[in-house]
Amino acid sequence: GAERTKNVLILMSDTGGGHRASAEAIRDAFRIEFGDEYRIIVKDVWKEYTGWPLNDMERSYKFMVKHVQLWKVAFHSTSPKWIHSCYLAAIAAYYAKEVEAGLMEYKPDIIISVHPLMQHIPLWVLKWQGLQKKVVFVTVITDLNTCHPTWFHPGVNRCYCPSKEVAKRALCDGLEESQIQVFGLPIRPSFARAVLSKDDLRIELEMDPDLPAVLLMGGGEGMGPVKKTAIALGESLYDKDQEKPIGQLIIICGRNKSLVSTLESEEWTIPVKVRGFETQMEKWMGACDCIITKAGPGTIAEALIRGLPIVLNDYIPGQEKGNVPYVVDNGAGVFTRSPKETARIVAEWFSTKTDELKRMSENALKLAQPEAVFDIVKDIHELACQRGPLANVPYVLTSSFTSLI
Ligand code: UDP
Repeated sequence: GAERTKNVLILMSDTGGGHRASAEAIRDAFRIEFGDEYRIIVKDVWKEYTGWPLNDMERSYKFMVKHVQLWKVAFHSTSPKWIHSCYLAAIAAYYAKEVEAGLMEYKPDIIISVHPLMQHIPLWVLKWQGLQKKVVFVTVITDLNTCHPTWFHPGVNRCYCPSKEVAKRALCDGLEESQIQVFGLPIRPSFARAVLSKDDLRIELEMDPDLPAVLLMGGGEGMGPVKKTAIALGESLYDKDQEKPIGQLIIICGRNKSLVSTLESEEWTIPVKVRGFETQMEKWMGACDCIITKAGPGTIAEALIRGLPIVLNDYIPGQEKGNVPYVVDNGAGVFTRSPKETARIVAEWFSTKTDELKRMSENALKLAQPEAVFDIVKDIHELACQRGPLANVPYVLTSSFTSLI
């Protein structure tokens, strides 16, 4: 007979664009691979079910990354385990009931966390509910290298690490080898499986058909030195002697609306397109020849799949720092904080150093892991099958959890 549809609860938070993109990637890959076998629910559980500070994570995160020093302190001061354990225990004591209610509503057979702060509390709830053996709990890490230790929890069935470096950290932090899998960062299937021709994309996106194109962005929030870099590129990509441009510029500002309006009011001597939040990043990347971005893991992994050489011009201290050597040491790009330097490098790539551009593009493709998201969902499916034919997971609302703390 037909098996019952299994519920998959993906826990994410809209901090930046990366966690949501990963969550949606996993959801889409489940649909493609397994159709109706699974019902996928993507939830920002904290925002919906809990009080401050968890429901405010998005805002505090935006505030903190804008005030970089503050974020640095927050990241490093919460790194020692005893500090974040105490902190999380305190939060859990306050919010366990709400989280429990959240889990009760969705009755998940599988829980997937794509956020560094979403292992401890749900796992505690499962434990006190006596559901640890019945519910599959996995973590999908979305930082490529220097990730925060709250990602690692020994109670998970699987911890998917995007790189060997992260896997090493997981081992050091007490996870068993059998808990760890390294497939790569999950990227939306629309990216991985897209068959796109650059010429067609340029027509569709109304770009110049012939001029080399550079894509400039700053993550989901449009952060980093985007404006200064754009202006420097406006100069470096214009050949004053020949009085014509040697390249074109696409700027994607994400949710940064004020950046869109400032850039739109600029005068340009080269072809420029200024866009807000784009839902089809695979097309814009497919139409360009290189990318300038802060060191966001999502953007980097996507650029690698499209074979785009990368100029990294910024990183969020802590979790994004390690993404820089990941790209640079593997020959897929360069790092500089200087907008002038960035503009010079791109101008060279489009004129005298086209061979370097080509070599870096090949290196990028070598690093790319377009199949990672499919490997991850297939592995989760196997874990779920090992649990045997799942009877309805018996979620019972108890007061045991909160009273035990
Ligand atoms: N993104 C998007 N549309 C935009 C800007 C960004 O879909 O207009 C996506 C981008 O493709 C990537 C994610 O948002 O998947 C950004 O994640 P990343 O890890 O690079 O940085 P974050 O924004 O999380 O700091």
